Formats: sequence, C-alpha cells, structure tokens
Amino acid sequence: MEEEKQYKVLLIGDSDVGKTSIVKRFSDDAFDEDILCTIGVEFKMKVVNVDDKDVTLCIWDTAGQEKFRALISSYYRGAHGIILTYDVTKRDSFNNLQYWLNEIETFSTRPNVVKLLVANKIDKENREVSREEGEEFAKKKAMFFIECSAKTKIGIQQAFEELAHKIMETPSLANESEVSKRKQKRPYTHRRKTRIYAPPSKHRASLTSFFF
Ligand code: GDP
Ligand code: MG
Repeated sequence: MEEEKQYKVLLIGDSDVGKTSIVKRFSDDAFDEDILCTIGVEFKMKVVNVDDKDVTLCIWDTAGQEKFRALISSYYRGAHGIILTYDVTKRDSFNNLQYWLNEIETFSTRPNVVKLLVANKIDKENREVSREEGEEFAKKKAMFFIECSAKTKIGIQQAFEELAHKIMETPSLANESEVSKRKQKRPYTHRRKTRIYAPPSKHRASLTSFFF
C-alpha cells in the first residue's frame, strides 16, 4: 500500500497581512474580524486531494514573532512549501517581501522549497498593490502567485491545493515527505536532538523556547 504523504508548509510575511486568517479559513472554514494576536505556535493538519491522492499538509503559522522580525531557523527547517503573504491594501507589506525572501534563503533547509506568493485582502476597497505588480514580483523571484481573501474565501482552497500540487510535482521534495523521513535508520529522537543548534543571533535566542 502506498504511504500517505505529509508535507510541512509554513506561512510568513509581515504582521497583520492575514496569515492566521488564511490558515483559519482553510482549516476551519471560519473568519474572525478581530483576531487579537496569535499566541503560541499555530500548527494545523489538513488533508488535501491532489490528483486523486490524499496529501496531509502540516501548516505552521507564526506566534506573532514576525512583528519583531524574530522567526528562528527551526520554524523554516524542513519546510516543503512556503506561503509568503502580503496585504494588497498595505504597500509596506509588499515592499517587505524581499526581507522575507532573504530569510527563506538563509534558513530554508531545502533549496527547492516551493514558494507561493499570496496577495490577501482583495475584498477590500483601498487597494495599494495591483495584481500586475504582484504577478511581476512573483515571476521575477520564481514564485507562484495567487490573490485571495480570507474573509470571502476566494482563492484560499486553491492556494493550498496549488502549493501541494507543486510540491508533488517536484520529485526531490515529493519523495522526502515527513513519513518517509521517519523510516530512516537513525532513531527519530536522536535526530531531533542533533538538529537543535544555537540560533544565529541574541535577538533570536530569546524566542527559542517557543519552538523546542
Ligand atoms: P497575521 O498577523 O498575518 O496573522 O494577520 P491576521 O490573520 O491576524 O489578520 C489581521 C487582521 O486582518 C484581522 O483583523 C483580520 O480579521 C483581518 N483580515 C485577514 N484577512 C483578511 C481578508 O482577507 N479581508 C479582510 N477584509 N480582512 C482580513
Ligand atoms: Mg498571525
């Protein structure tokens, strides 16, 4: 019997762009007008169907540390897919995308990790970033692109399905699912221990406990 694939997917981008809302819409089909703040690392599992195969996505959302630019390396570690998000009504969140791409470059452990650029809040009237600008940036940086609204649902399911699809299409990623990794010879507990290492800066060190 074919084993079920399981992939790590994470969301990054500026604070308030709607990352938590996107995950909530996708996993619980719900939306909250005033999410206070994400507390603790959010971690959701959701099964999507790709080409008639069930694939489990382990979706990691930040605990709000992105506000302080302090996501640590273990958040990124082992990710198969990354959803990079901005808010179409906040140009700053678009201008900051390069910062997040640099973080991916620094911390991602898989060079071919699939990156999806998600433009959120398209239901709002006061747009500051056009669809064309988003598309162009994504193209330039070799990312896939989708516009969505966590509020109205538009594009949300499609974003995760597309991401899962692209992961499955990348053989070196598809075959390195979490499940198959556990079958490696070294015991999992031992591997976990050896994978913990000192965060790169003092700033990051203060948040380490969130993740281990
Ligand atoms: P995060 O900091 O990136 O996780 O952002 P949140 O998910 O906490 O969302 C920040 C705020 O934006 C909240 O008040 C949400 O209700 C709101 N929000 C998120 N997505 C949308 C959307 O698609 N449309 C609208 N109108 N508001 C949204
Ligand atoms: Mg959040």
